[in-house]
Amino acid sequence: MIQITMPLGFLGTVYREIRQALVDMGDMFELLHQPAEITDVPGAPDLRVTGGEVVLDDVRFAYDASRPILKGISLTVPAGQTVALVGPSGSGKSTIGKLLFRFYDVTGGAIRIDGQDIRGVTQKSLHDAIGVVPQDTVLFNDTIRYNIGYGRAGATDDEIIAAARAAKIHDFILSLPEGYDTTVGERGLKLSGGEKQRVGIARTVLKNPPILLLDEATSALDTQTERDIQESLNAMGRGRTVITIAHRLSTVADADMIVVLERGEIVEQGRHEDLLARRGRYAAMWARQSAEDPAEEPPAGKPVGQ
Ligand code: ATP
Repeated sequence: MIQITMPLGFLGTVYREIRQALVDMGDMFELLHQPAEITDVPGAPDLRVTGGEVVLDDVRFAYDASRPILKGISLTVPAGQTVALVGPSGSGKSTIGKLLFRFYDVTGGAIRIDGQDIRGVTQKSLHDAIGVVPQDTVLFNDTIRYNIGYGRAGATDDEIIAAARAAKIHDFILSLPEGYDTTVGERGLKLSGGEKQRVGIARTVLKNPPILLLDEATSALDTQTERDIQESLNAMGRGRTVITIAHRLSTVADADMIVVLERGEIVEQGRHEDLLARRGRYAAMWARQSAEDPAEEPPAGKPVGQ
């Protein structure tokens, strides 16, 4: 019996180790966001963020030259405002986020932050200026303190706790067996989708960037969790420029501007009420989504967009 189970147990361990190594490598690329072909121009200065205005000027992009994905996107996000990108799956929303972070370079046009073309500044300064809250926050197999502290090297315990409070995850952490010393991730405590997202928010609060890129979770969170998380995101967004990639419409009604993309082009833009009144693409998407999931309609009695 021992002779049979030992090798199997050993193989299981090896399998888990290999799998974990692959997960860690995947995480590393995910976190570094550094494709090899993007380099700094020699002597590039750092980005100087004065207000945080983001301008997309006739942005064109194709992953593969034969298939244009963005076909001339022009969009200004004034400093401190929130813009939501909406549109059908595959319309190019996430691609805009990847270009802003310079995961790829535009193939035409330009992206400028406070007047500086992002291709002309150091990637480090660009990445320091933008906080990304991804769909699925990657956790290290380490303590929850480390996982939040990853947002800014050298953060003190007090700062980590303040960030956890802002992300409304502090009380949850205190309820864990070892509090902030609890190991999370694949080998430790598994966190739920909503809890992972809060860790992502806490990291970003700690980083304190002037520009936020939020990639809304596509994975279903329950409605209450989604509303709670949205509140934390809204609080974090105050005073910053926010670009939200919204895969659903339920969370965008408050945005200063909603941009509707279809097949790589802007087909409508405006505030929620204006777009509903226009009875165009957005109004149709809203009606469809409300019919599919009535729970996603704004709470009764709350004027839309307030
Ligand atoms: P969703 O709401 O489903 O996330 P999206 O609007 O964010 O969609 P994108 O992820 O920007 O859409 O994708 C736009 C198009 O680009 C899609 O047709 C997609 O297949 C393609 N695409 C995305 N990433 C890559 C890639 N790395 N290589 C090649 N094509 C890609």
